[in-house]
Amino acid sequence: MTQLRNSVLLDQASRCVAHEHDPSQGLVQPIYTSTSYHYLDEAAQPYPRYFNTPNQESVSRKIAAIENAEAAIVFNSGMAAISTCVLSLVRPGDHLLMLRGLYGGTHSFLVSELTKWGVDFDFAANIEEFATKCRPNTVLAYIESPTNPCLDILDLRAMVQFARDAGVLTVIDNTFASPINQNPIDFGIDLVVHSGTKYLGGHSDLTSGAVVGSRNLLDRVAEQARKFGGALNPQDCHLLERSLKTLDVRVTRQNENAMAVATFLQSHHAVTRILYPGLSSHPEHALAKTQMRGFGGMMAFELHPNQPIREFLTRLKLITPAMSLGGVESIISIPALTSHKYVSEDDRRQSGVTPNLLRLSIGIESPRDLIADLDQAIEKSSQDAS
Ligand SMILES: *Cc1c(COP(=O)(O)O)cnc(C)c1O
Repeated sequence: MTQLRNSVLLDQASRCVAHEHDPSQGLVQPIYTSTSYHYLDEAAQPYPRYFNTPNQESVSRKIAAIENAEAAIVFNSGMAAISTCVLSLVRPGDHLLMLRGLYGGTHSFLVSELTKWGVDFDFAANIEEFATKCRPNTVLAYIESPTNPCLDILDLRAMVQFARDAGVLTVIDNTFASPINQNPIDFGIDLVVHSGTKYLGGHSDLTSGAVVGSRNLLDRVAEQARKFGGALNPQDCHLLERSLKTLDVRVTRQNENAMAVATFLQSHHAVTRILYPGLSSHPEHALAKTQMRGFGGMMAFELHPNQPIREFLTRLKLITPAMSLGGVESIISIPALTSHKYVSEDDRRQSGVTPNLLRLSIGIESPRDLIADLDQAIEKSSQDAS
């Protein structure tokens, strides 16, 4: 099979589309459903749980290319990617630092599982805290930027500086930004994880995950992965690879739509708090501009306390109250009841996840319709209340 010559392509948009030639000369890779492969004359025997079948490898190469990395491994969910990645890098007696305000699933995984593995951990809210809480046995710093759901931005260059000085590895969850808006490897971050269920898949019909980085580190992750077994099946590898072809056009549109919607919400009298890194009112807007090519499709906001949230959500016609994010359809959720349901109330409060915070994942619909929908729902729900 001819390898994709992705390294000669300048931009993500072309890397998303570029295909690998199949022996039949088709533009699209066939779906190889075999779980059994000849082994006598092959150096590396493909086996689905070895993460080396043709569909697993071709989608992995594409993801590596759009993250500007040497290698990638695809998993059957974001949490499979995250748990396998973290546990492949720590040993009993090690210490891990994690950013405060992580995705709820990652937060509860780390908090509940690490101690069982004999690994100690601390939270850090910013780079200074990473430095002061770092110990001689700290091996890993786990971060997100932007964070889910509060859209905090962490200075990736400063993070890498700290980590190199301290000799710790860095892992970032790049799900919110997507590789179109941010390539953390370019700044020296060691490993990138993704929930492919979100922007990479992009159509709310596929669960997947990925770990991306140097071949050296990915070999360590792969060794753990073969034991944990969270491999992605060939049909979903194909679906993910197909979805990646439109990643750039989808995310570019989502960036534009989100900017328009955030600008509208910011100016609305019923909106008391709006968190979107593209707005100049965002505390880290200037920093975001130095490390992101676009500001993404995610935002969070709060309505005035006299604005009933349930009624507002019920009144929406185009935007659906639903879980997950990153799809072509705009959806809205209450993180305290969804993504951060299993995070303690105290940790939620410390991360800024208030009970009435709303998280909006902007799709590819027309921005005018999205704004009109939010506008009418705010209006009608305040009438419901009075
Ligand atoms: C959804 C999500 C995950 C988990 O991914 P799954 O595919 O649901 O396992 C991890 N990180 C972030 C930022 C997410 O939004």
